[in-house]
Amino acid sequence: MADNTTWKFVVWERLNKTGKWCPYSADVSQFLEQSYKKDLDEVSLSDVDENLKIYNVNFKDMVQISTATGTKSTIRRRMCNKDDLLCSGFTWQWHDDHDVWHSYDVEVNNFIEKAHTAAINNSTVALVNGRPWFHSRPPHTPQSLLKPVPGIDPISACSRKTKEEEKVLKLANYEEMDTGIEDVLSEYTKEVNLDISNSKDEDCIICCEPLSGGSSYDDDCSIVQLKLCPHIFHKSCLLAMYNSGPKDKCLQCPVCKKIHGVKYGIQPPGDMIYHILPYSLPGYPECDTIRIIYDIPSGTQGPEHPMPGKKYTSRGFPRHCFLPDNEMGRKVLRLLIKAWKRRLIFTIGRSSTTGEENTVTWNEIHHKTEFGYSRRGHGFPDPNYFNNVLAELEAHGVVDDDVYMWYPA
Ligand SMILES: [Zn+2]
Ligand SMILES: [Zn+2]
Repeated sequence: MADNTTWKFVVWERLNKTGKWCPYSADVSQFLEQSYKKDLDEVSLSDVDENLKIYNVNFKDMVQISTATGTKSTIRRRMCNKDDLLCSGFTWQWHDDHDVWHSYDVEVNNFIEKAHTAAINNSTVALVNGRPWFHSRPPHTPQSLLKPVPGIDPISACSRKTKEEEKVLKLANYEEMDTGIEDVLSEYTKEVNLDISNSKDEDCIICCEPLSGGSSYDDDCSIVQLKLCPHIFHKSCLLAMYNSGPKDKCLQCPVCKKIHGVKYGIQPPGDMIYHILPYSLPGYPECDTIRIIYDIPSGTQGPEHPMPGKKYTSRGFPRHCFLPDNEMGRKVLRLLIKAWKRRLIFTIGRSSTTGEENTVTWNEIHHKTEFGYSRRGHGFPDPNYFNNVLAELEAHGVVDDDVYMWYPA
């Protein structure tokens, strides 16, 4: 067995024009070492690296020779000990305008590697099998490595008929929605006697007329207050507002946005699946990653959509989204599932990025769609993300009001 204290590693290096030693990449180094051990006189680097195809290495003179210009540069075979950063097998290189990679010299290489290691320790990069991952998508991962999210059941296609979804199906039926406007008002508002209220001199925010005068919609002078917030309106105004909206048996206060009832959206049919990937998001080296995959096919708009009967497109599906698998990530996942069942994650409308009409778009609940390196700002780390997404969910009336069993992440 090798003695760890004396264990050495061979690195092949080339002296560059400025007199600094530059390591060859691990592959080239290994190739040179093998050729050297075989007692070969000269080898072509084209056998190991396409970018170095014009170079030969002569072991007798210990030089690298350019077959194009005949230029020679000295090379050396160096034993480095196991603490040397080059022993990790990684060398840093830069890419020039002619599509060629160049090695940094040993000093610079060590400097970059040190800074890089520090960056990993600062947890600002995604980690895949302990190594930094700079792609916006995680590597392809076999099904056997995907784990379910503890405590959160999958939404399976055959268990669609949950109570909430049945309600949604009913909501898709227009006649059903048209009934019960008075019920909605009586459930979520109470009559106010303006004479004994201190809002006497205020205006109704819906019609901008004084509350003490009549509504501009009709002669009904009734004044109502929403039950979950203190805001007061003409009853006729609130009724008109409700009738001009999706009539989904839900009232949203136009002043403070408090939702009375359960808000449903018009998200078209599709699938939402989620699982745990054995990798870490930037900023969360201590936990795995929850991946959510949304898939919505294109189709024809229903009566609840902006242009019933017209086709809608769906671009960029399946869409992949990421959350850290910790307590907060699981809380957000549970709320996203709730929002999905209420058809609030996506909507049909105009794409803000392409301008296309009648297409499936995000519905103001932001998701992190980049796993590793964040090119478009849709990735971690983002210290404000959780506060923002919880506020966006709450704006849709989606809050964590149930009692859950906590599963330690
Ligand atoms: Zn009014
Ligand atoms: Zn309000």
